[in-house]
Amino acid sequence: MNNYLIDNLYSLKNEIREIAVKCGRDYESINIVAVSKNFSSEHIRTLYECGQKSFGENRAQEMIDKYNELKELDIDWHFIGRIQTNKIKYIVQLADYIHSVWRLKEIDEIQKRAESLNKIQKIFLEVNVSGEETKAGLKPSEVDDLIANIVKTDTYQNIEIIGLMTMAPYTDDETVIRRSFSDLRKIRDKLQSSYKTIKELSMGMSNDYKIAIEEGATYLRIGTRIFGERPYK
Ligand SMILES: *Cc1c(COP(=O)(O)O)cnc(C)c1O
Repeated sequence: MNNYLIDNLYSLKNEIREIAVKCGRDYESINIVAVSKNFSSEHIRTLYECGQKSFGENRAQEMIDKYNELKELDIDWHFIGRIQTNKIKYIVQLADYIHSVWRLKEIDEIQKRAESLNKIQKIFLEVNVSGEETKAGLKPSEVDDLIANIVKTDTYQNIEIIGLMTMAPYTDDETVIRRSFSDLRKIRDKLQSSYKTIKELSMGMSNDYKIAIEEGATYLRIGTRIFGERPYK
């Protein structure tokens, strides 16, 4: 069953390896988050059995349901969706990584929940590098201040900012896509001088992961390329 999933995963891995070699990057530094939203737990199980451990979901309830159906598997759950404050308690319970954090009130709530679970929550800060109005995320000019505020107090002991996340504009124009990825990398590079642990770059989806790898992505969030077109619910 679902043999195409295995074929897709392996061909994707081969492709990523080739791109990494071509641009002189270590293949091992590039993580695939298989974005399983709208697909079933059985799809996830099939890929897990082939060694895929990281899965991405964008709705809290869907992640909870799948978590419960797959409890016995040692999956790394990545929450990649828009965050609703009233769902944070569920997200923090289950997610190993949250990619889409950017509002201070979300960060406060994540801290509160992580503390009560005695957990260190790994997060990415989402940056809206392209400046599109419909997009979530911090303005590039806001990143420094937010991080400084988080780091300077000891309020946020249960939050670990491991990197930055962005979504490229939806366009066929490679130059535009590349610029948004390289802008995110530059923000990360600047932060590195003060914050060595903020090093990961979550960027690249099915239609732009090649460019993302060339621009330094360390976490690719890939759905369609592995699962096929999503059935809309
Ligand atoms: C759905 C989604 C993806 C994966 O998109 P594909 O184009 O199917 O690879 C990646 N990141 C986020 C935030 C998403 O919501």
